[in-house]
Amino acid sequence: MTPVGRRSRRLVRTCFLAVCVAAAALQPLASPAPAAAATVAQLRAQLAALRASAAPAGDAYEAAVTAVENTQYRIKQTDARIRTATKKLTSAEAALGSRADALYREGGDLGVFEFILGSATWEDFVTRLDFITLIAARDATLVKDVKDTRNALQADRVKLVADAKVEKSELATAAKHYNAMQAQLSAKKSQYDRVLAAIAAQSGGSHPPGPNGLTFPVRGNHYYSNTWGAPRSGGRHHMGTDIMSPRGTPVVAVTSGTIRPHWNSLGGKSITLTGNNGWVYYYAHLDRYAGGARHVKQGELIGYVGNTGNASGGACHVHFQMGPHGRWVNPYPYLRGME
Ligand SMILES: [Zn+2]
Repeated sequence: MTPVGRRSRRLVRTCFLAVCVAAAALQPLASPAPAAAATVAQLRAQLAALRASAAPAGDAYEAAVTAVENTQYRIKQTDARIRTATKKLTSAEAALGSRADALYREGGDLGVFEFILGSATWEDFVTRLDFITLIAARDATLVKDVKDTRNALQADRVKLVADAKVEKSELATAAKHYNAMQAQLSAKKSQYDRVLAAIAAQSGGSHPPGPNGLTFPVRGNHYYSNTWGAPRSGGRHHMGTDIMSPRGTPVVAVTSGTIRPHWNSLGGKSITLTGNNGWVYYYAHLDRYAGGARHVKQGELIGYVGNTGNASGGACHVHFQMGPHGRWVNPYPYLRGME
């Protein structure tokens, strides 16, 4: 026997062992039948079992991510209101200060004493004095109101920061459970992939949806992280998720709906998909389109990964945004749920 022959026998043994390990890891699954022979219904049931085991951890993680994001947003809003209140306070204090100066200044162009002492009659004197007292009292009230507002806002902020701390630790716990679940799923990965591939083959090559019912927008190798709200050029903030993937990787409809390909200087070759569910999905930086404006089925090929628009010269990726009726939400947890 040639060395090549021995090597291939060893390879066959190793592969057989891998299949046994994979089968052992999948004990809870009812059907041990080979995927090729299984019906689409059986495969979908197996897939549903795999997804169901991951769903609670995924949901908890998503809820925790959203809670942390919302609190961070409220802290930012409170900071802006504190800044406004501080500005108001500064100008109100300045107004009060200059009025007090005027009151105690002797002579001066705007001498208050001259104004009061210039009264022709006792009634006039009382009216003028009341007038000055009233203005000073108004200034003092304004300063007090603005101070109260700012103090209330600062108290709110302290509470929000405390909330954020609790939510962050909840997120860390949720993420730990989620990652543990992902690790369990990746232990089942070969079966998972085999089931996905078998379903795709039996349903005319269309890509099956993830646990949240949506189909992942890129069909091929990819990497992405949570960059929602990250600073971007021109004071903008990142309103989506960048899914890094090689040029030419197929891009598919995450759900059924109507697509409209269009070009803009930031997004380059872009597609807006209006889902039958009323949500809007935006894909940018495509290398090229697959067909024009039309109704598409979930998982249908609509374009290919590229780096057009302001991604030109940079890494190929799909910039993906989504939201109900164009009100964008962070796609990251949704994307995780599509896999
Ligand atoms: Zn982007």
